[in-house]
Amino acid sequence: MEKDLTISKVKKGLKSKEFSSVELMKHYISRIENYSELNAYITLDKEKALDSAKQADERISKGEDLPLLGVPIAVKDLFCTKGIRTTACSKILSEFVPEYESTVTQNLLNNGAVFIGKTNMDEFAMGSANITSYFGPCFLPYRKKSKPDMALVPGGSSGGSATAVASDLCVAATGSDTGGSIRQPAAFSGLVGIKPTYGLCSRWGMVAFASSLDQAGPLAKTVEDAAIMLKSMAGYDPKDSTSENVEIPDYTLSIGQSVKGMKIGIAREYLEGLNEENLSLLENAKKWLIEAGCEFVDVSLKTVSHALPAYYIIAPAEASSNLARYDGVRYAKRAENYKDIEELYINSRSEGFGEEVKRRILTGTYVLSAGYYDAYYTRALKIQKMIKEDYQNNAFSKVDLILCPTTPSTAFGIEESENMTPIEMYLNDVYTVSANIAGLPAISIPAGISKDGLPMGIQLMGPRFSESNIFKVSYAIEKAANFAELKKTILTIQK
Ligand code: GLN
Repeated sequence: MEKDLTISKVKKGLKSKEFSSVELMKHYISRIENYSELNAYITLDKEKALDSAKQADERISKGEDLPLLGVPIAVKDLFCTKGIRTTACSKILSEFVPEYESTVTQNLLNNGAVFIGKTNMDEFAMGSANITSYFGPCFLPYRKKSKPDMALVPGGSSGGSATAVASDLCVAATGSDTGGSIRQPAAFSGLVGIKPTYGLCSRWGMVAFASSLDQAGPLAKTVEDAAIMLKSMAGYDPKDSTSENVEIPDYTLSIGQSVKGMKIGIAREYLEGLNEENLSLLENAKKWLIEAGCEFVDVSLKTVSHALPAYYIIAPAEASSNLARYDGVRYAKRAENYKDIEELYINSRSEGFGEEVKRRILTGTYVLSAGYYDAYYTRALKIQKMIKEDYQNNAFSKVDLILCPTTPSTAFGIEESENMTPIEMYLNDVYTVSANIAGLPAISIPAGISKDGLPMGIQLMGPRFSESNIFKVSYAIEKAANFAELKKTILTIQK
């Protein structure tokens, strides 16, 4: 089987009978088993996966055609999948088998996708390194040139999905992004990852972290694959009150369209403190886009530096409220030993949640408590409003899209992450959180390789529902960066 098959290649291969969906599924299952030490998947139902592939083959042979018919897709373990264990990588949900299918995964199934399994992630999507999972860390298939023995993180929280796509253990995968969890792992793993406009993908059946920020989106090998995936995942859903009733355009029409005359902004605040490698990546991307006919405009976004502190108030506040349901009575694994109802709650939650989740619940309940609500939570909401207005008035009134880095650094070592304080870990999200705070779409595109031989991502953000423009410019960057060639220089642990 050819390496790194994209959706369009798979579709072509299935149509020409070069391979069947069952053969493809067997190929990925055997790779997953060969690379089990990467810990990308935590639940694999081989029989079910092969059975869905068989059904897809039958539909193909009858001449049916759907955007993802017979294409093996991995699902982040945050999306409820009917009859398949869904854990959010928490001990508290480790035995949960949903009776229902999330809207996003149902949309993928309606578009013909066949699911391989559920991928590893940070517990309840809280993290930037996939090290808070109850099922153990997930590993990046790449190594630094300077430290070839050091195992690296794939980023988080959608680390399992990123490793699954980057290691060719599926064609594409779903992720979720509350503060960067699609884009940061995409950048670390040399993938395309998009967090769409808030409300584009339904949150129904997606385990909630911070409901006003959570959005589903794809992690894929190419911009085109991300466009196909997003179109198949998105759509209005009356079951989610924040779902937007908008027409979902065919994003693949953006691929290859001219970007001539488009205005791209670089916010000077994003340049402050940027390291040399990120600066030269930004300059390269600027040069490529100017060559393709874009015009660059300097903009100033004075509030972006407040996005990270506001995020780490709002997200834990909402998390503490969302996670209150896991009490061992109505939801979740119950502790075995307790003497009364109070101890049942305490023991179930103490045993069921990991350290980072507890930290967020404590922070969240603190900022929502009567004495501190106005000082922290109300203030964070005011900052959120300011950031939204800043993007609208000072960026998108002048430019079509904003270009900025995705992450402050490339992938780091698991052992390095153990020495990081929580605040140091949170700083990984400095460039990604503002898109969530403002509800804007943002993508990460692999655009370069660091001196130490690791993938680097660049980010494009746009006004609400500007996904078509984002894909258009992303494709121009992808073409100019020629990452497929650059990728060959990466030190990989795969045979
Ligand atoms: N790293 C961020 C956090 O820990 C973002 C996580 C996410 O986007 N789900 O909250």
